[in-house]
Amino acid sequence: MPPAISADLRRVAFILAAAMIAGAVLGSVLAGLAAGLALVLGLQFRELWLLHRWVHRNGERPARRVGLLGDVSNRLDRLQRQARKRKKRLRKSVQRFRQASEANPDGAVMLEADGRIEWLNRSAGRLLGLKPAQDTGQIISNLVRHPRFAAWFDGDPAREPFEMDSPAAEGQRLLLRVVPFGESRRMLLVRDITRLHTLEQMRRDFVANVSHELRSPLTVVMGDLEIMSGDTDLPDGWRRPVARMTEQAARMSRIVEDLLRLSRIESDPGGAARQPVQVADMIAAILRDAARLSTSRHEMIVEADPSLILLGDYGELYSALSNIVFNAVQYTPAGGRVTVRWLALEEGACCEVEDTGVGIEAHHIPRLTERFYRVDKARSRELGGTGLGLAIVKHALMRHDAGLHVTSEPGEGSTFRCVFPADRVQRIERDAAGDAAAEDSGGERGLSAAL
Ligand code: ADP
Repeated sequence: MPPAISADLRRVAFILAAAMIAGAVLGSVLAGLAAGLALVLGLQFRELWLLHRWVHRNGERPARRVGLLGDVSNRLDRLQRQARKRKKRLRKSVQRFRQASEANPDGAVMLEADGRIEWLNRSAGRLLGLKPAQDTGQIISNLVRHPRFAAWFDGDPAREPFEMDSPAAEGQRLLLRVVPFGESRRMLLVRDITRLHTLEQMRRDFVANVSHELRSPLTVVMGDLEIMSGDTDLPDGWRRPVARMTEQAARMSRIVEDLLRLSRIESDPGGAARQPVQVADMIAAILRDAARLSTSRHEMIVEADPSLILLGDYGELYSALSNIVFNAVQYTPAGGRVTVRWLALEEGACCEVEDTGVGIEAHHIPRLTERFYRVDKARSRELGGTGLGLAIVKHALMRHDAGLHVTSEPGEGSTFRCVFPADRVQRIERDAAGDAAAEDSGGERGLSAAL
């Protein structure tokens, strides 16, 4: 028998025996037994009450440590002490975590599922201009004052980081990232990238300045070479070197122009303009140029929806799409096919350029948009490529919140897809699209006020 029960039984037996003896002395054993039972009940009830008070109201712990109730109270006391120790340990580790987070120069904002601020460290407050005391519980996109922050945050922020100027300190550049955790919580991480941004800016300025400085001497050299190659008195021995020099000068000039174009696109902060652009017309214009490049060696197919209008910058879009189409022509052997499509998607619209050309091996694909990255350097050079085309495409598309997706099979061909988000796409009536296309006879400009 467990010792707790035998202690209880011993106590009950002792009280009842004492009560019965007292009853016998006083003349009624039964009355003594009844009084004994009442005393046992009363004592049990009192102990239960003390236990209840201790557990529920943090009263004093019952004095009795033996018997069943004593055993329960001992166990509860042990559990309570263990819980208190655990709580203390937990509080200390939360404190340590908070101290570490406060010491972190990067900002961290803990967010609830609906974007409400649950907690933020000091750096986040300093970088984003938030005040922990008054901004906790507020929706973050209502507090961070930046034209594109809310659009990024309300979209799919975990997909891509976001760069912006600090709303709290002038000249400070921030990189924001969202990391999901728990069931539906999110952590917004904010990093000060001012130094990196300044260095990047210096690099861009340097490249832009060098390119700019090279432009004028190159123009002079090219002009002189042109005169020389047209000179009938030029000695025959000079013809080949002059032709080679002309070719190389033209290549340098293309590189300089592409570098300048790239630095112009890169250095313009914010997204691209939102002018309505008739993409179907733009594709027609690009294909006219591509046909000159192809010299009828390729079959060209267009499937463009004229009622789909893109809100963007005409020049940048032309530059991006023409680069992709010209590449398709150049990397497709004679007799191949180039198909250009412009169509609506569930998530927006897509301009797709498919060719039946040489294709690209899978491991090259992620690096294609790096500056000067070429799968086959000699071939690119031979075709007059600069290695900057797809870098321009990537930046121009980024400024239109669009993505570039490449699929390719070596020897079979490649498909380059530019996917534009729904908020940059508009649909106009078929008639209006036709009229606009007719009015816009050159097809070189976007639609205007009609939209
Ligand atoms: P380039 O001026 O050399 O064409 P790009 O940046 O436009 O430079 O393209 C980078 C590289 O990607 C090219 O050198 C080429 O190897 C590859 N590439 C681009 N488009 C295609 C395509 N349609 N088919 C096969 N390879 C391609």
